[in-house]
Amino acid sequence: MKRQNITVLGATGSIGVNTLDVIRRHPDRYRAYALCAHSQVDKLFEQCREFHPAYAVVRDERLADELALRCRNAGLSTTVCHGVEALVAMATHSEVDTVMAAIVGAAGLGPTLAAARAGKKILLANKEVLVMAGELFMHAVRENNAVLLPVDSEHNAIFQSLPLDFSRGLSICGVRRILLTASGGPFRSTPLAALADVTPEAACAHPNWVMGRKISVDSASMMNKGLEVIEAHWLFACPGEQIQVVVHPQSVIHSLVEYTDGSVLAQLGNPDMRTPIAYALAYPERIDAGVPPLDLFQIARLDFEAPDFERFPCLGLAYAALSVGGTAPAILNAANEVAVAAFLDRRLSFTGIPRLIEETLRVMPAGPEGSLADVLMADAEARRIADSLIRESAIA
Ligand code: NAD
Ligand code: MG
Repeated sequence: MKRQNITVLGATGSIGVNTLDVIRRHPDRYRAYALCAHSQVDKLFEQCREFHPAYAVVRDERLADELALRCRNAGLSTTVCHGVEALVAMATHSEVDTVMAAIVGAAGLGPTLAAARAGKKILLANKEVLVMAGELFMHAVRENNAVLLPVDSEHNAIFQSLPLDFSRGLSICGVRRILLTASGGPFRSTPLAALADVTPEAACAHPNWVMGRKISVDSASMMNKGLEVIEAHWLFACPGEQIQVVVHPQSVIHSLVEYTDGSVLAQLGNPDMRTPIAYALAYPERIDAGVPPLDLFQIARLDFEAPDFERFPCLGLAYAALSVGGTAPAILNAANEVAVAAFLDRRLSFTGIPRLIEETLRVMPAGPEGSLADVLMADAEARRIADSLIRESAIA
């Protein structure tokens, strides 16, 4: 069997590190061909020392020089590059079979779309790509015969619970609804009046998952689930009305598919991203992911509740943006990225996050999704508006 050459976009992040852990367990199957990160040179250097990639990519020339020097001194033959063009080059390189798209946020759109246009196998963690440019991205996947495998645990669970090739459309499979599970995050039962004062540290302390800071805040506000509704819409060609969010605090059922005959299929597992990563890497085979077996006796019970749209206004904003369509989800995503960064920086309160997004969507009308340039223009304009609303203290 030929080894798959893998580009990891976002190698130093939570998904990147978990991906490399699965790769480490299967050196006969996978080679980390290119490792791409932003600015964590120490961590990337350690990864280069262990995995000997052909290429490593960082943000700018200064960091690239620093990493290149350390690689040379360690006797490594890794070529170090920098910048957005290098990310695109690694996502489209002729030697690369598979691209793990695990950059956080809008920064991942360009290289991930390029991977689709180059017909690569894409393991998609970077959900913001589908939120910003779902139509463009899915079109590029289809037109170029790219293979798209969802890594987000819910979408991976849905993919595992669908018996047919998921690109053929859900109606063919007799699906009635998709049930997306959500843990409810750290503030599921915090008194509503206390939400305005929660800290970034509390928001990042997720009860079940260890993740990057942006997605942790998204989970606390449930914007993560809102983004995932939009992600599911594009992946499974399914309208928002057919996607139901179910709060399930134990995070053992990762999502479910309800069929017209009354059957409901679910995927269960320990909350560990190595399971969906390994499934996407080896599909349609199964490989060891290093995840301990699920102990049902220890879990003992599974609970479910309806989502609280008053406590989590971000969820309603995401459903609304999906139904408006066009660039509305890109505007929602951009305003959310600005809001989360400001919250982490203590320039915006937690309850200011949905207010800032709502106001940005109110001020800026959505247009058609159009081309990549149209999406990037909407993204930039939404960021400008959201930033100025914060600066003018229009939202606290
Ligand atoms: P993270 O913050 O831990 O890591 C982000 C990675 O992206 C880092 O390697 C960083 O260097 C890189 N990066 C950031 N900005 C960049 C830029 N401008 N250019 C190049 N590289 C850049 O994030 P994460 O938790 O690993 O999440 C990554 C993506 O996967 C997100 O879109 C998230 O929504 C999604 N996801 C994560 C999890 C999880 O368990 N962590 C689960 C499902 C989906
Ligand atoms: Mg998820």
